[in-house]
Amino acid sequence: MNLTSTYRLAQSAYSKRLHKQAITTATRFSSSNDKHHKPTTFATQCATLYHPSTKANRGLAPPIYFGSTFTLDDADHGARLHDKKEAAFTDDDGFVYSRWGSPTNEACARQIAALEGVNEHGGTMLFGSGMSGITSALMSVLKAGDHAVFPYTVYGGTHEFLKEFAVHWNVEIDFIDGAGAQGPEAYRAAFRENTKVVYCETPANPTCRITDLKGVGRVVDEHFGTRASNPNRPWVMVDSTFSTPYHQRTLNVPGIDVSIHSCTKYLGGHSDILAGSVSSNSPEFCHGLAKVQKLITAPLNPMDSYLLMRGIRTLDVRMQRHGENALKVAQMLEDHPLVDKTFYPGLPSHPDNTGGRDCLVANAFRSGRDYDEDVDTMPQTYGGMIAFVVKGEGDVALERAKRVCEGLRVVNLAVSLGSVESLVEHPASMTHAMIPREDRLAGGLDDGLIRISVGIERASDLVEDLKTSLDRVMESEAEQNAA
Ligand SMILES: *Cc1c(COP(=O)(O)O)cnc(C)c1O
Repeated sequence: MNLTSTYRLAQSAYSKRLHKQAITTATRFSSSNDKHHKPTTFATQCATLYHPSTKANRGLAPPIYFGSTFTLDDADHGARLHDKKEAAFTDDDGFVYSRWGSPTNEACARQIAALEGVNEHGGTMLFGSGMSGITSALMSVLKAGDHAVFPYTVYGGTHEFLKEFAVHWNVEIDFIDGAGAQGPEAYRAAFRENTKVVYCETPANPTCRITDLKGVGRVVDEHFGTRASNPNRPWVMVDSTFSTPYHQRTLNVPGIDVSIHSCTKYLGGHSDILAGSVSSNSPEFCHGLAKVQKLITAPLNPMDSYLLMRGIRTLDVRMQRHGENALKVAQMLEDHPLVDKTFYPGLPSHPDNTGGRDCLVANAFRSGRDYDEDVDTMPQTYGGMIAFVVKGEGDVALERAKRVCEGLRVVNLAVSLGSVESLVEHPASMTHAMIPREDRLAGGLDDGLIRISVGIERASDLVEDLKTSLDRVMESEAEQNAA
């Protein structure tokens, strides 16, 4: 073998592994007469991407692949990838351009698809926020002249999107009370010939009322037929951000098409990213959603995809601890003399906790169980979200609630939820202060209502913190009255 053929072999192997290997050997080619050698000029070296050597892929943690574009084998490869660009996941043929999907985003999406029980026909897509996922899902199926049904208790941002955008795009919206045993019939009563979306959010914010998803799937099938029998059947979507797939595997419920999460909350779990996921077993739905993502909303970026994957790795233990802590906090609140009402699905006072293994609450909180027999060995928990109302009318309750929030030392005063640290918020003076009082009350947001996202701190610290703050408000009022 002469030197030239050795060189040619080396060069072809080199170009095949371009994306895997360090380009540290540019000088090796510079002595060649070949006109296509890699130049060693300074400006070109600056612009060139250098990669680690081949065993880098054995790092236990997955790499974060930044980059908007990917090198192609040849023009045919590029043509092939353009044909496949609206699939939920790539195959081993690779990536072409990050707006159509990229490796770290896809790794994370595959993990969420596994948690959701997505089958081989479906997929999961990740977005830059929960709202981005929700609006993408709605935009992918709703057209002018269509009708959609939503619960009154839908997330504020979703409500705003419907009022500020969807209605101006000539989409008709009906709001219904979807909670509890009567919920499915309330949905059925709202159905019309042009209904294209049936939307649920469960557990509801902030009352944690449960929607009977099995019932909703059933009434949609009864009224419109199954998807196989009626391609115009509405898409049934569920936002189950509060429960996560640890409690609710929405796509396993017959008749439910789409599962949505704000991954900013429990799935991410650390208050450090914004993200949203949308999952479905329908290739038709995934195709439409991929189009919206590609053209309008864009996929979740690589860094946040990595952080989301990292958060999900502890989801199981975090959710168990959130639930154990929240039950203790809820029990203290329910017994406290300054508290009028406590909303927590784990309390027997919750309207959907009618007892037994088949009540709405028991069905909505799977508690990470895999097999039937796990019911006997794995503890039942009910998530980390609690709402409670302090006693008093109007401004009295408003003042008390503010002071309870401000007197906390362990629990943080901040909106959002689902993180390892506990958060508390007072809707009447914070997130919902701009809404007229009557409208707020009609929506169940009392002046004295406080929402807690119970974190994974030591339970006794949380119970003590809340109890001390409530006690102090009572004591200072008693002192004022005595003076
Ligand atoms: C937070 C939240 C959203 C919106 O998610 P973002 O990530 O903030 O855009 C949607 N639905 C529910 C139930 C939420 O709690």
